[in-house]
Amino acid sequence: MTTTQTAPKETGTGNMAPQTFNNLINGQWKPAKSGKTFQNLNPADPSDCIGTFPASDAQDVQEAVEAAKKAYDAWRLTPAPRRGEIIFKAGQILMERKEQYAREMTREMGKVLAETRGDIQEAIDMCFYTAGEGRRLFGHTTPSELQNKFCMSLRMPIGVCGLITPWNFPMAIPSWKLIPALIAGNTVVLKPASDTPLSSLRLVEVLQEAGVPEGVINLVYGSGSTVGNPLIDHPDVRLISFTGSCEVGRSVNERCAPNFKRVSLELGGKNAAIILEDANLDLAVEGIVWGAFGTAGQRCTATSRVIVQKGIHAELRDRLVKRINGLKLGYGLEKGIDVGPVVNESAMNKILEYIEIGKKEGQLLTGGERDTAAGAGWFIKPTLIDNINTKHRIAQEEIFGPVTALMPVADLDEAIHVANDIEFGLSTAIYTKDVNKAFRALRDLEAGITYVNAPTIGAEVHLPFGGVKNTGNGHREAAETALDIFTEWKACYVDYSDRLQRAQIDHN
Ligand code: NAD
Repeated sequence: MTTTQTAPKETGTGNMAPQTFNNLINGQWKPAKSGKTFQNLNPADPSDCIGTFPASDAQDVQEAVEAAKKAYDAWRLTPAPRRGEIIFKAGQILMERKEQYAREMTREMGKVLAETRGDIQEAIDMCFYTAGEGRRLFGHTTPSELQNKFCMSLRMPIGVCGLITPWNFPMAIPSWKLIPALIAGNTVVLKPASDTPLSSLRLVEVLQEAGVPEGVINLVYGSGSTVGNPLIDHPDVRLISFTGSCEVGRSVNERCAPNFKRVSLELGGKNAAIILEDANLDLAVEGIVWGAFGTAGQRCTATSRVIVQKGIHAELRDRLVKRINGLKLGYGLEKGIDVGPVVNESAMNKILEYIEIGKKEGQLLTGGERDTAAGAGWFIKPTLIDNINTKHRIAQEEIFGPVTALMPVADLDEAIHVANDIEFGLSTAIYTKDVNKAFRALRDLEAGITYVNAPTIGAEVHLPFGGVKNTGNGHREAAETALDIFTEWKACYVDYSDRLQRAQIDHN
């Protein structure tokens, strides 16, 4: 039997009254064993409390892993097309609730309503795309080198998967992990980020309502040290799928190493858009503004470097400043707002520190400070800094806020060199009308994703998502490549010759 959380109550302000939410373990919603909780606050107005969530620890992780382990056999033996039907139904339910969940997400993490609708849509897309995988999960058949022998390879589930997610795509990123893990027949324990606990709960609730059996998905809230680490260390957790910062990703990788635990890491970015002299500048300006300031710059694929060819530097600079100064900051549920707050106070302080560094390294063109007029929350004015080069810290370190830098270069060769002169390799873009230059960029930019005449953000769920260099450890989420994370290959040989046949030996 499964239970759901109680329906939220409307307050006079249109916001829901604070509620108490729980972990989901073995189909039951329950508080942390310790009884500890933490609060989920609205970053546009920190006096607005969305709810309290369990601050769990290793005891809760233990119970969740046991539940996932117990549920594994029945789930892996459920026919994959049937698993796909449940996931398809979850997509349908999400479609019906898209508006409610988008509004809740804006309230808990700040990005504007159009973007939170996109976040839910990404989870819907992931459900519909992956549901069909239930009738594919293709392996290979291949001839044997021996007579009367049959060879094939099959995708097998892995077991209990630990999923650790960040706050910037509060439903989309959990869905990128949960949905492929489930279609492949794995069971999971999800630990979402503490800044956005509600949106992941909604996804889990919907999957449960669609028919995922108890114990298959377990949801445990809490910090990286009290929940993340016990999950990583647990011997019955066979795989860790982590999305977050490079710093934490490195420690997750190290913790997984002694047990040879499979780990997929999707980490930080420092993404460049190259604007060449023949570019459509109107298009480039729109793409830069959307890429740099959408989600207040808190996307792993955010445009945090604008590499501009010298001949159009001054014009691009002036047009950008004008366009940025027209952006409206405020609470993302209000009409006409372009940019919301950043996620919390410490993120705001870190971004403001980087802005101070940038002011010394280059010239501040606009923004550069907190915007208290936009509201009581964590608002930072969209910031543009000029004349930055690859030696500068703000060209090298991930700021994860509404800050971008202009980096003038002589030509395409230098642009590609500057774009690649970085430890990260997630997303890149080039604006040009020259097809030869576009194809050189597609070939030479060191990144998991390259866009031509489009911003650095905008991934679709049926293409591989991930980065090179320190952005990850070589896995790709989304598309059919996600199955390579969540399945093991098994090679199968069937000899129907009725005699001993020896591969390589019986060779004549
Ligand atoms: P973060 O690394 O601080 O936290 C990510 C998750 O890890 C959270 O759930 C957190 O509680 C948990 N965690 C923290 N310390 C831990 C520990 N020691 N052990 C185990 N778990 C721990 O990242 P964040 O601030 O939530 O997210 C922003 C970062 O995520 C940025 O660097 C961004 O580029 C990256 N990101 C990457 C992608 C991608 O697909 N490449 C997508 C979105 C975000």
